[in-house]
Amino acid sequence: MNKAKRPVVIAGNWKMNNTPAKTKALISELVPMVKDKNGCDIVLCVPFVDIDAAVKASEGSNIKIGAQNVHFAPSGAYTGEVSAEMLKECGVEYVIIGHSERRTYFGETDATVNLRLKAALSAGLKVILCVGEVKDERVNGITDEIVAMQTKLDLLGVSADDMKNVIIAYEPVWAIGTGLTATPEQADETCGVIRKTIAGLYGNDIAESTVIQYGGSMNAKNAAELLAKVNVDGGLIGGASLKAADFTVIVDAAQ
Ligand code: PEP
Repeated sequence: MNKAKRPVVIAGNWKMNNTPAKTKALISELVPMVKDKNGCDIVLCVPFVDIDAAVKASEGSNIKIGAQNVHFAPSGAYTGEVSAEMLKECGVEYVIIGHSERRTYFGETDATVNLRLKAALSAGLKVILCVGEVKDERVNGITDEIVAMQTKLDLLGVSADDMKNVIIAYEPVWAIGTGLTATPEQADETCGVIRKTIAGLYGNDIAESTVIQYGGSMNAKNAAELLAKVNVDGGLIGGASLKAADFTVIVDAAQ
């Protein structure tokens, strides 16, 4: 399969931004701006408390709603956590798992990422799995090994059939929220390493049909160049997803 046959997925990661009222306002602004942009899938991953407002504001549009994390247990004594079943029932279709901010600030490991990922898939959610190297790892020339290892550990026990519901976001940690962006060549090369790793795990057909996004300060100015690369099938966008106009330019670049 060539790139043209893979779906392009543009996903916003709002992080800890926007109240329910602001969610309603921002999505209502965005809906008419992206309504005819059918060349890519559009997802907004919002804070848990904004899900209801986001689902209502996006109803009938081409915007899908995602969450930013999910717990691995179906229910139980896990204060502060949210299960996959809860997300599904609220109208969530996607969930980000293993974002570097979760790994860095909240002790997320490849083992817990793997558990969360399997719980999400079992509940019928689509997963956006984040992997990526820190600056020292890139400087020391071990980016390929790091992303390959994360990909393998995070996907342990995930079946070939479930891979149709897994998107991988290559997110160099040094580029997230920093204004630094991987060059299109770096993004393409490392997304290619991830694709090769998936081929090793599941075979070429699945590797060629897996959506691999780039994330890390993608914005209205650099999106077109990044998205043009053969191994880059979309973007996971933080800061630039908080402004309807900027996000729309990125969606346009993906058409
Ligand atoms: C992200 O949150 O996944 C991200 C890539 O953020 P930013 O676009 O702000 O770097």
